[in-house]
Amino acid sequence: MSEQRVTAQQKKAVAQRANQCCEYCRSQLRFAMQPFSIEHIIPKSQGGETSLDNLALSCQGCNNHKYNKTEEIDKISGNIVLFYHPRQHKWQEHFAWNNDFTLVIGLTPTGRVTVEVLQLNRDGVVNLRRVLYSIGEHPPSDVLKDE
Ligand SMILES: [Zn+2]
Repeated sequence: MSEQRVTAQQKKAVAQRANQCCEYCRSQLRFAMQPFSIEHIIPKSQGGETSLDNLALSCQGCNNHKYNKTEEIDKISGNIVLFYHPRQHKWQEHFAWNNDFTLVIGLTPTGRVTVEVLQLNRDGVVNLRRVLYSIGEHPPSDVLKDE
């Protein structure tokens, strides 16, 4: 059970559900230099299952920074806060774009710790957003579909 792997069918379903965008930083797969990962929102090491409600599409950067973490101390409230959960939360309720759509702003404690730990405003990602915005390809027009 613990060795359960993500099936090809699950990979396809997760990528489609996410509209081929990273579910954290909203990077678009079609403009990515590296393939995206199907990640376990709750890591397998913490008992997370390989099921669609625990899987998300993630770019390599977000996936690497998230690693096996699920929570962080919010510097403003001082509380330990769980990261954004793509299956349980709505992106727009926890994040917003700044005026020129280059930076993700955390609107809530959940949003803030996720921006910080996953480094949603990494230099390369920010620069790519700027370039894509200038040609009308950012932000991704289609936000996550409601389940
Ligand atoms: Zn990402």
